[in-house]
Amino acid sequence: MTPVPAYPTPLTFCEIHPPNHFPLYFYRRPKAPDLEIHAAELDLDAVRAARIFWMTGTGLSEEPSRSATLAALEARARGGITVFDLDWRPMFWDGEAVAAPLYAKALAHATVAVGNTDECAVATGEREPYAAARALLAAGVELAVVKRGPRGVLAVHRDGTVADVPPVAVDVVNGLGAGDAFGGALCHGLLAGWDLERTVRYANAAGAVVASRLACSSAMPTDDEVTTLLAGAP
Ligand code: ADP
Repeated sequence: MTPVPAYPTPLTFCEIHPPNHFPLYFYRRPKAPDLEIHAAELDLDAVRAARIFWMTGTGLSEEPSRSATLAALEARARGGITVFDLDWRPMFWDGEAVAAPLYAKALAHATVAVGNTDECAVATGEREPYAAARALLAAGVELAVVKRGPRGVLAVHRDGTVADVPPVAVDVVNGLGAGDAFGGALCHGLLAGWDLERTVRYANAAGAVVASRLACSSAMPTDDEVTTLLAGAP
């Protein structure tokens, strides 16, 4: 790790308007320290050896993080599980036209793409979930996962397997963090080698647990909590 004393710790504020309006305000100027990672600082042996590797669209938004992220993806050479979290934050970019070719490049190196409907639209131009999933597969990944918030999840594998799961009904308090819980649970299922339906149902329930809680990172569910919620789901 190289210290980056020039850049302040970023602050983020959110507004909470359940059930579906949770705007975020980022203070990341002049630049967030997490975007100051240089390719030369990467431990590429560790990057290659990891069973699962997760990168985000935000990591592509600015240099040197952009080059470092692409260098890590190239080093992975589609080995193991390489997840691209489409994670589109328009305020970090000078427009979708800048992002599109970088998203395309990253998709060509990833094995899994995960994004909500808006993020899929930026990455592929498609908003309808099945069309977006097909476009993500065409862009290079083996598994496309479209998060539909309160409408559940669609996942389509290149081998033709489809999991189209409804949401787990919860009283929504704060949707922030649902995507992170979903992502962590998705990694768990992928690493455990579960079938697609089980993996997606589990991740879907993990997202719902966090949506039902006020907190975000401190609200992540345990395996027991996800399993209990799933047991009661239709
Ligand atoms: P992101 O935070 O990345 O935009 P979403 O809001 O789409 O992600 O939420 C991620 C996942 O969490 C959803 O696909 C769904 O599985 C679950 N989830 C989110 N909101 C709800 C909700 N209101 N009810 C049930 N499940 C939800």
